[in-house]
Amino acid sequence: MIHMNRHYSDLKESYLFFRIAEKIREYQRMHPGKSLLRMGIGDVSLPLCPAVITALHEAVAMQGEKKTFHGYVSETGDPLLRAAIARHYQKRGVDIREEEVFVSSGASDELGDLLDLFDAASPAMIIEPAYPAYVDASVIAGREILFVSAKEENHFLPLPDETSDPGIIYLCSPNNPTGAAMDRITLQRWVDYANGKDAVILYDAAYVAFINDPSIPHSIFELPGARTCAIEICSLSKTAGFTGTRCGYTIIPKELEKEGMNLSKMWTRNRTTKTNGVSFVIQRGALAVFTEEGQKEIQETLSVYRANGRVFTEALDALGVYYTGGKNAPYIWVKCPEGKGSWEVFDELLEEAQIVCTPGQGFGESGEGYIRFSMFADPDDTIEAARRLKALWKK
Ligand code: PLP
Repeated sequence: MIHMNRHYSDLKESYLFFRIAEKIREYQRMHPGKSLLRMGIGDVSLPLCPAVITALHEAVAMQGEKKTFHGYVSETGDPLLRAAIARHYQKRGVDIREEEVFVSSGASDELGDLLDLFDAASPAMIIEPAYPAYVDASVIAGREILFVSAKEENHFLPLPDETSDPGIIYLCSPNNPTGAAMDRITLQRWVDYANGKDAVILYDAAYVAFINDPSIPHSIFELPGARTCAIEICSLSKTAGFTGTRCGYTIIPKELEKEGMNLSKMWTRNRTTKTNGVSFVIQRGALAVFTEEGQKEIQETLSVYRANGRVFTEALDALGVYYTGGKNAPYIWVKCPEGKGSWEVFDELLEEAQIVCTPGQGFGESGEGYIRFSMFADPDDTIEAARRLKALWKK
């Protein structure tokens, strides 16, 4: 007789995007013809850069010729792409070797799948508000969750709590949803804490491309001690517009060992068992991101999102409201005015300014009282939304 994974019934229903879509539908039914400024989107809005498109076309053509056709690619990634990613780190002075890079289909897959490496009895520490996948993947695995609250008092960058005893620590910097990014001193505290507790940090660096401030590390491996306690999970989704194309990479240092087990060897074994790797064509597209041309072209796209961030943060500065993010991240996390709830402010912005935001409550209870704006929106919509927000909140 089959026994089901009962932990699925412990998952909280995710009403966030469903409820937002429902409210938008209702608004449009009541106000036909009124257009909305969609400042809530977490997806990118600009296309892949020309270097990637050319590489994808070339790779497709190769698959049609007997001489250049590729069958299965190595489960851990095309050696050319692994080497290019390692060089990308080395250029920033971070000594990552090709064998330490694992090509993936994206960060989401890895954030859940990596839990296979750890016994279900190891608790996961999650800073809340959080990207929902950390909580859900841990719940599905039946893992105890130790929540740490990010709040205004700690500028949404909490420090570790010495009294708790995590096995896995999820860190996300620059953060979704708060846009807060850890400086070296804060991240070093977490690295030292993880080493002291013999825990493993799953460092989600999906938004690394948005870092502007030199005091913010681009990789956890810039910090002393990280190689004995951290795995870095990266994605080309937001860096290079790969949300629909799907490619990312994970870095596991060779010397990362716990209880006599080597995590890199375990993950190699896991991948060779559970996947047959990422599509050859997509990996060739990803390889183009790491060329000189690709790096230049993705910066042109990123600069559009960065400019949106400047427009919006200037409006918030003029209003004098408390917010985090927007400077090293594509998200701005804004305190609701007059102590209002996040859904109440969502409704007000929709009704009175036709702006769609994301209510913070959808990222966990400690997100209540905040709303998230995304800088992936259309630039003209961003300018107009900033103007309307200023007019509305000045009143
Ligand atoms: N991590 C964070 C913090 C995210 O916000 C997202 C997507 O929004 C992901 C991971 C997922 O990235 P991917 O598209 O590579 O699965």
